[in-house]
Amino acid sequence: MDSQVEEIKSKVTIHEVVGGYVQLQRAGRNFRARCPFHRERTPSFMVSPERGTYMCFGCSEHGDIFSFVQKIEGIDFPTALRQLAERAGVVLVSRGSRDYAASRNTPEVKEKEERLRDVCEAATAFFESTLAGRKDVQDYLTTRGVSAETIKTWRLGYAPASWEELCKHLLSNGFSKDDIVEAGFGVKSERKPGEVFDRFRGRIMFPIFDASSKVIAVSGRFFEKVLGAKDDSEPAKYVNSPETPLFKKSRVLYGYDRAKNAIRKLDCILLVEGQFDLILCHQSGLPFTVALSGTALTHEHLSLLSRLSKRLVLALDADAAGLRSGIKSAAMALALGFDVKVPTFLAGQDPADLARENPELLKAAVRTSKTAIEFFLDAVRGTLPAGRQGDERAYKKIVETQILPLVAALPSKIEQEHFVRIVAERLRVPEDAIRAEVAKRPALPADDVAATKDSPLQEVAPTQTPSQLERAAGLVLFHFPKTHHTHERLVVLLGDTRLQALQEKLAPDAERLRFEFESLGDDEALTGEALLEAVERAVIEEEILTVRDALRGDAGVSSELTQKLSLLKRREQELRK
Ligand SMILES: [Zn+2]
Repeated sequence: MDSQVEEIKSKVTIHEVVGGYVQLQRAGRNFRARCPFHRERTPSFMVSPERGTYMCFGCSEHGDIFSFVQKIEGIDFPTALRQLAERAGVVLVSRGSRDYAASRNTPEVKEKEERLRDVCEAATAFFESTLAGRKDVQDYLTTRGVSAETIKTWRLGYAPASWEELCKHLLSNGFSKDDIVEAGFGVKSERKPGEVFDRFRGRIMFPIFDASSKVIAVSGRFFEKVLGAKDDSEPAKYVNSPETPLFKKSRVLYGYDRAKNAIRKLDCILLVEGQFDLILCHQSGLPFTVALSGTALTHEHLSLLSRLSKRLVLALDADAAGLRSGIKSAAMALALGFDVKVPTFLAGQDPADLARENPELLKAAVRTSKTAIEFFLDAVRGTLPAGRQGDERAYKKIVETQILPLVAALPSKIEQEHFVRIVAERLRVPEDAIRAEVAKRPALPADDVAATKDSPLQEVAPTQTPSQLERAAGLVLFHFPKTHHTHERLVVLLGDTRLQALQEKLAPDAERLRFEFESLGDDEALTGEALLEAVERAVIEEEILTVRDALRGDAGVSSELTQKLSLLKRREQELRK
């Protein structure tokens, strides 16, 4: 398998891969770009075609084509391997990617995941073919504004209003009851042990895809009851897949696979709540839209999105519950450094309505979104009970509890000041009073801080800073091969033991040092010379200090030491010239 990894690397260059996502500029033997993993104005992301590596001097991300694709697409290694193999025209040895994955995870787990994926795919194809035969459901989708092309692109389908049609179909295709249940499509019967029945009945089906557009779950919208159902209760409007080994709600965003490139390119994320909102936004020319799949926004969602863009537009349900969850989502995103905005829709309208009635108006609403804090500052007034909308004291109270936490969540003091002024003006109270209230609030609740610990948003702790000598030596050490005369001279200067220790200490920074060396100039001989001199200078300074200490400790006059000192000083003078 490793040989296949190498083969792919030899066929797909790193600058081709990275260049598909960011604009690369030539910089000597390397390329330079603005880092796709953190926000920056001046490019500090370096790509080396010779070594097939990349390294960011801003956020320390580094690696090869595989880690780059994994990181930027939000996919796992086997998936990145498959994608790049395809691109390189390399045929992976039979089940190679599975075997490789298996070496990182148990084979049983991976085998099972593959089987569950197959169940998801078979169920999706079944729902699609059922929809093709149901004119009435298609007509309904048309009235909702969904085009035939969108149905195809998003693979919408229909789950028949029956207890067992899907399960029968899957069983006849060789899937086991356990797999059908575990993939979330079947439910074990309590009355007839050993039997399974369909989870989704009489519903319009929206498949939910992973980052590489494979179906991992579904969401079903109610359409009709099962014929002859005795149960009179109103069915849930939406039923989603349960959590499965493939589907983790807190990590999956509906539409992410199709939206990610547009998000990166346009540097903007539109987050909506429902399935219809999502597909209609895409249909209306807002391809940077993603949706939550039946859960609240989480840190994991945000950390996934933050790799693509830090500009988030929240398109929320206009009701009170939507407002509450919107404020919570905004606080979380603001604290993580997102620029958060909210578009204003007409009362009672959601993005799906607007997309159907007037896509241009929807785009305009997104374009003219207000900053989240200003939006909520206005919106919370509407949550006051009727008749008290003009009650300034009640409004102040609600701003204090709902809006000031948002201001406190802002990581930048300058930003905070900006909004302190806006809130003070709106409430007609002194800025100092607002500032004092904001200062009282913790920037982030404790559990949220813990949750962000592992996220890539967190600044990378700098490794122990090497001394000047160590840095200069490291630059030579990792650039020149052992047999090169510059390397050999370094051994003479520092000695084997010391160099060995240094190599171990600096090993984690090797790639950074290689890029640094290359950034020092195109002439490696000249750069090497300059660095060796710097090392020698540092070594001599060290020795001078040692000799001086020895002289100080020595009561008698040691002519030997004095002589050594003057020799060292002379060499130091020479080097300084
Ligand atoms: Zn970076």
